[in-house]
Amino acid sequence: MTDAIQGRDPRTGQPVGDPVPATDPKGVDELVGAADGAVYAWRDTGREARAAALEAVADALDAHVTELVALADSETALGTTRLTGEVARTTGQLRLFAGVLRDGSYQGVVIEPAEAARPDLRRYKRSLGVVAVFAASNFPFAFSVAGGDTASALAAGCPVIVKAHEGHPRTSLRTAELVRAALESAGAPQGVFGIVFGVEEGVALVKHPLTAAVGFTGSTRGGLALARMCAERPTPIPFYGELGSVNPVIVFPAAARNRAQEIARGYAASLTQGVGQFCTNPGVMFVPDDPGLLDAIRAAVSETVGGPMLSERIHAGYLASVEDLGSRSPYVSLLAQGRPGEGPWSAAARVYQTGLGAVYQHRELLTEEHFGPVGIVVTNADPTSALRVIHGEGAGNLVATMHVDLDGGDDAEEARFVGRELAAFAGRVVYNGWPTGVAVTHAQHHGGPYPATTVPAYTSVGAAAIERWLVPVVYQDFPPQLLPEELRR
Ligand code: NAP
Repeated sequence: MTDAIQGRDPRTGQPVGDPVPATDPKGVDELVGAADGAVYAWRDTGREARAAALEAVADALDAHVTELVALADSETALGTTRLTGEVARTTGQLRLFAGVLRDGSYQGVVIEPAEAARPDLRRYKRSLGVVAVFAASNFPFAFSVAGGDTASALAAGCPVIVKAHEGHPRTSLRTAELVRAALESAGAPQGVFGIVFGVEEGVALVKHPLTAAVGFTGSTRGGLALARMCAERPTPIPFYGELGSVNPVIVFPAAARNRAQEIARGYAASLTQGVGQFCTNPGVMFVPDDPGLLDAIRAAVSETVGGPMLSERIHAGYLASVEDLGSRSPYVSLLAQGRPGEGPWSAAARVYQTGLGAVYQHRELLTEEHFGPVGIVVTNADPTSALRVIHGEGAGNLVATMHVDLDGGDDAEEARFVGRELAAFAGRVVYNGWPTGVAVTHAQHHGGPYPATTVPAYTSVGAAAIERWLVPVVYQDFPPQLLPEELRR
């Protein structure tokens, strides 16, 4: 059994608040049992009542925003402005799914009345069952206890048990209290929401026979370990993992020539936002032979200031990345660095320079995420050659970006080709922008081929995230009174 989970202030590395006890093994079994007992009751609660319950959770979080932000800041050092915005994003997600429920089309109802020799067929998507959600470290609200996975699974009609992230235990505990109370006051069935603390306890949750699916955001290593557990259960279950991504950026020659300052400043800001702790960080950028752009990148990055990373473990990963890239001379060299921040887990921007040939020979430079403000700039890379190098094993990404200046002389045919090819291995393709910042909307897709995710057909952000927790079923020749309500027409 895991020891109690002690939160730490990333600004000092010192303990903050009381430790949160790990859930005892019997407790995990009881929580999953209670959640399974709520499966039919929650599904039968109906779309309108489930929508109202999600809104009650959103209202409760909004009403406690000051308290939640203070707690999260003490455990993550992400700052009041960012965290206040993240609570708003989180409650916005809950309300978005309330709207998805009221709309109802997510259920994919298809009714084909009997005709001649063909039977009456009625298809819809039912909720899957108990969903385990592994909270992420880098979004203590939006990808944590009441985050997108939880909101989408509850909306789908699935009870949820969250595995809290050890990086923000008291924020997780308090959020869970608010969620549970709000669901209860909205009339949701007992057991529909629970939370577990502890590594082994998370494993027990994944292996529990009544758990029906797992949602995860975190490292490739952790994700694959849990995916294996899901696959090796006596009854395997779906595992939706959002893992690592280097999110390549391709800069076209005219864009580099005409917009060097703007591109350099945008790159430095995107790379260092949130101390680079975003899965959408621009990890690898391909640039043409353009000394002006390299100078601008050097200048923009040197103005950035580092800050505390979320945990000692994540900071250790950053140091390992810096050491690894620093030791790859002569084919990798330091291009630019930012100013140091304060605190024991502080990370400053580091941008390394390499060439197309080196990346071709050392493919791991293109596939291994360096979590934090660490970037690789591949120089002398024309867009088509860059694409040839990107293609291949491990090319899957959450986002790919292209910077093009069509009016300034970049070739439209080549831009069309690059856009089409980027879309073959990224879930989102960005034009003249930056990959960080993922809008939570109906059209959004936050996914992509492995290693970005384990199941590329699905998204973990936006309205379509609900699809992960639904399975189709078709009723053949059932009398109306025995059909689910949605199919009685
Ligand atoms: P992590 O180490 O993958 O942990 C994520 C969650 O999975 C935690 O709850 C962790 O439990 C659990 N876990 C991991 N491996 C496990 C295993 N073998 N068995 C059981 N449970 C396991 O991610 P992290 O702590 O957030 O950050 C570490 C690295 O993850 C970063 O350096 C970065 O590379 C990556 N990351 C990626 C994203 C993304 O959006 N894709 C987001 C954040 C981090 P405990 O916390 O209890 O150990």
